[in-house]
Amino acid sequence: MGMFIIFGFLIALAIFAYVKSNYKKSSNVICTKCGFSGKMRSKPRGSGAVELLLWLCFLLPGLIYSAWRGGKKIYTCPSCSSNDIIPLDSPAGKKLSDTFKEQS
Ligand SMILES: [Zn+2]
Repeated sequence: MGMFIIFGFLIALAIFAYVKSNYKKSSNVICTKCGFSGKMRSKPRGSGAVELLLWLCFLLPGLIYSAWRGGKKIYTCPSCSSNDIIPLDSPAGKKLSDTFKEQS
């Protein structure tokens, strides 16, 4: 039983580290609405307090919740608060960037 807890804890730590590394991935993106490009504001779904509570009470739900939050972030444009944002280094993002550059 003791081994099982330690093993479970290690797996949880590994997944937690993976989820946290995902959080940092907000690179340069471009807004399809206004053409703003740069670092976007990102906010994970759900609440950090709920996440912490789930981690403290039950390990597995906390894990699932963290993965759910980290898996899909909500990006908003700092300029127009639009959610229609694509990565700047994607082919569509580059094309869009050129389009907006030509206009200005
Ligand atoms: Zn925008």
